[in-house]
Amino acid sequence: AKDNGGNEICFYEPSLHLRAEERRRIELALRGALGGGELRLVYQPVIDAVTGRIESCEALMRWFKPEFGEISPAKFIPLAEETGLIVPIGEWALRTACAEAAQWPSEISLAVNISPRQLQDPGFMTMLVSTLARSGLEPNRLELEITETVFLNITPDTRKILHQIRQLGVRLAMDDFGTGYSSLGYLREANFDTLKIDQTFVRSASRDDPDSAAIVRAVVALANSLDMTTVAEGVETQEQLELVCEIGCDRIQGYIFSAPVPANDLRPMFADKNRR
Ligand code: C2E
Ligand code: CA
Ligand code: CA
Ligand code: CA
Repeated sequence: AKDNGGNEICFYEPSLHLRAEERRRIELALRGALGGGELRLVYQPVIDAVTGRIESCEALMRWFKPEFGEISPAKFIPLAEETGLIVPIGEWALRTACAEAAQWPSEISLAVNISPRQLQDPGFMTMLVSTLARSGLEPNRLELEITETVFLNITPDTRKILHQIRQLGVRLAMDDFGTGYSSLGYLREANFDTLKIDQTFVRSASRDDPDSAAIVRAVVALANSLDMTTVAEGVETQEQLELVCEIGCDRIQGYIFSAPVPANDLRPMFADKNRR
């Protein structure tokens, strides 16, 4: 990070290189963000590739800092993970999203991103159970998205938590599949329901790039053989849409249907796309 003179923080460098003092400032700013109502959630619909109906919506965090504008979660989530603040921030996101989704038509599920760091928190299961109870959201309408980095240094405790999540009836999705540590064995062991194919593959998959298309094809075949639902992330163009549909992806997420939107904008979309 670089100091640009005032009290502001610039997020240029990987946060690992932050000096202790800067780290404390960012931690303070993020702590203030949570308390001061600067964090918001937006939601992105995930569409069934066959019926065109909205299956679920993914909650995505936004940080609006008055003097600074919008800070991308790609920048502040890693800092939150390092400082441990992802635990209270992630809890806020889960509570807020579950309360919101409990108001949606019951056929629409909610997906929430969970950092591996949150699963290491001893209070995680209690928090999850109480959040579901307070919101009234049925557990089978919630899916937790976890990146494959969770398997990098997985402990017996984290394995147990993944198992307990499934026991609750909450689903698990492997996020950003293909970008990190490929963990085919764990996919089966941990009983993930959904596999989200990372946008880098989807983006480059086209008739002109048969290698990327072949990767998507192979991942879909793997997921099918493990009885998992596939989601193509980051679908932007008609060409990408046709290709991932032809390959047999079950669900589509991307700007071609909708960018992430505030909760209030979902209702007209539900009414429009999910008309019976
Ligand atoms: P992700 O979980 O892979 O989320 C998908 C990202 O792709 C989102 O970026 C979304 O806005 C973006 N996206 C969706 N469709 C398209 C498309 O067609 N084209 C392009 N170019 N992008 C598309 P966003 O919202 O900036 O979030 C970035 C990452 O930050 C997320 O990646 C996730 O890893 C993390 N994140 C966001 N919210 C949370 C949260 O509440 N908790 C945790 N732990 N992580 C979060
Ligand atoms: Ca995600
Ligand atoms: Ca993803
Ligand atoms: Ca991602």
